Amino acid sequence: CNKAFEQFIGRQRNELLGRSVFDISPPDLAERYHAADQALFDNPGIQTYEASVQSTDGLRRDVIFNKATYSRADGTLAGLVGIITDITDRKQSEALIWMQANYDALTGLPNRRLLNERLRESMRRSQRREDCVAVMFIDLDRFKEVNDTLGHEAGDKLLMEAARRIVACVRETDTVARQGGDEFMVLLPGLADRSAIERIASDIIQTLAQPFSLDADAAYVSASIGITLFPQDGDNPVTILKNADQAMYHAKEEGRNRYSYFSPAMQAQAQERLRLGKELRRALRNQELRLYYQPILQLASGHVTKAEALLRWAHPERGLIQPGDFIPIAEELGLIDSIGSWVFEEATAAALRWYQQDLPPIQLTINTSPRQFAKGQSLEFLLERLQHLPLDGARIGLEITENTLLDEHPAITAQLARLCAAGVQVSLDDFGTGYSAMAYLKRLDIDYLKIDRSFVRDLATDPSDLAITEAIIAMGHKLGLQVVAEGIETVEQRQLLLAAGCDLGQGYLFATPMPEAEFIAYLQAGG
Ligand code: C2E
Ligand code: MG
Ligand code: MG
Repeated sequence: CNKAFEQFIGRQRNELLGRSVFDISPPDLAERYHAADQALFDNPGIQTYEASVQSTDGLRRDVIFNKATYSRADGTLAGLVGIITDITDRKQSEALIWMQANYDALTGLPNRRLLNERLRESMRRSQRREDCVAVMFIDLDRFKEVNDTLGHEAGDKLLMEAARRIVACVRETDTVARQGGDEFMVLLPGLADRSAIERIASDIIQTLAQPFSLDADAAYVSASIGITLFPQDGDNPVTILKNADQAMYHAKEEGRNRYSYFSPAMQAQAQERLRLGKELRRALRNQELRLYYQPILQLASGHVTKAEALLRWAHPERGLIQPGDFIPIAEELGLIDSIGSWVFEEATAAALRWYQQDLPPIQLTINTSPRQFAKGQSLEFLLERLQHLPLDGARIGLEITENTLLDEHPAITAQLARLCAAGVQVSLDDFGTGYSAMAYLKRLDIDYLKIDRSFVRDLATDPSDLAITEAIIAMGHKLGLQVVAEGIETVEQRQLLLAAGCDLGQGYLFATPMPEAEFIAYLQAGG
């Protein structure tokens, strides 16, 4: 124990001699050092490792331990001798250099270098998972004017605020980086679904178009965003970044304050979706939505006992649009709750008409989107309507998807319970295609499983589809549920399903979805 050690540890020599690590180190560290010493005794030699210690003044210091065993003349082990090197200053300057090399000093965001590293990493991971990575190149429009007229200090403030606003638009796992000047990059890894990209791009454009208050002045800028996708638009970071830059220039050329995709096909699709979205708002007001009805039969008897309400959009110029082409847009734009309410209103009105016209009793099932449960307005609307209409709740069924149950929100369980109390039965739609957690089948009030069309399609040719279908039917029955197969197109499929014990079926073999008048005629003709 020398002078330097006394100073380092903050104790006098006489306090140290004869003590063990347990007397001079915090307990958690002492345990580790003791174990390392023990290992060295068991395996005599030299040991070097980096560690951190706490001196008595409470300061944490980074050190290198060099320890060695030494022996007596007869070769038996005598003890350990150790040297401590204080490397705290070096560590701190290393950390500082690392910060400076990887982060932008003004905004605190990752810089170009770190973005490149993360991009490389995300590309590797995405290859393994077979999903996609989106890169956005954001350039502030008219930033130079702010800088020139209000001064650099104001310009810096605006950039810091812009950085904060962009960060607020993305998930925690995404990276927002400053590329330099008034250019930012956003890295969105692990995207299973591209609809999120456009939502984020629109959010960023909107938030940056809000005024920036800089001391006495308010400044206005906007943003042009270029979007590229890995692997679609390039297989290496250099190409991806170059393409994002090019897409950003395209957005500028188109008039700024907008986003643009690198690939023309993606750009065309995005524009199409934007246009459809605008028209969809109008569709509700102009009563362009329609419900079609498809019968669901008892497979054994051929008796029609249910029907599914399927939404169509009668577009004035484009004709009938299928739900797959506009429901995702409605969900993105937050229109699904009002559309859902419209569907509930129309479907309950139809069910009431059929009841009053003395048609054979039919349960009409209505499709719902997970977002409707998240907000709950349209379900509230349905429950209220059922209370006020002279319509038995058993005449209505809801179809929910596995995604509805995914986040196990207590509100969803409560809503399902209220529907159940009102006599409304629930089917789990597209079963087998999502993240099926068997546990919720047991816990929640579900009455029917609907086997997805993708399994039914290849029943006759693909033995594993047949096996899955048989297993779903057997499991459903064990749990006391009835099973519906959708998309039955051939007699052979119907035969196989019947043999597997499937209860109900729906598909073009029996009838396609049809407008109400046609459906009523179908029922009156005996199905
Ligand atoms: P889904 O609930 O699984 O509906 C079954 C789909 O399969 C319907 O497509 C139906 O027309 C189609 N189909 C029925 N039988 C056959 C067949 O034998 N062969 C083939 N190839 N297809 C068949 P559609 O009407 O295009 O609806 C697509 C999806 O849109 C529905 O899938 C449902 O998830 C959603 N959807 C429909 N209406 C609504 C609605 O009012 N609200 C919500 N949130 N979603 C809806
Ligand atoms: Mg359905
Ligand atoms: Mg389905």
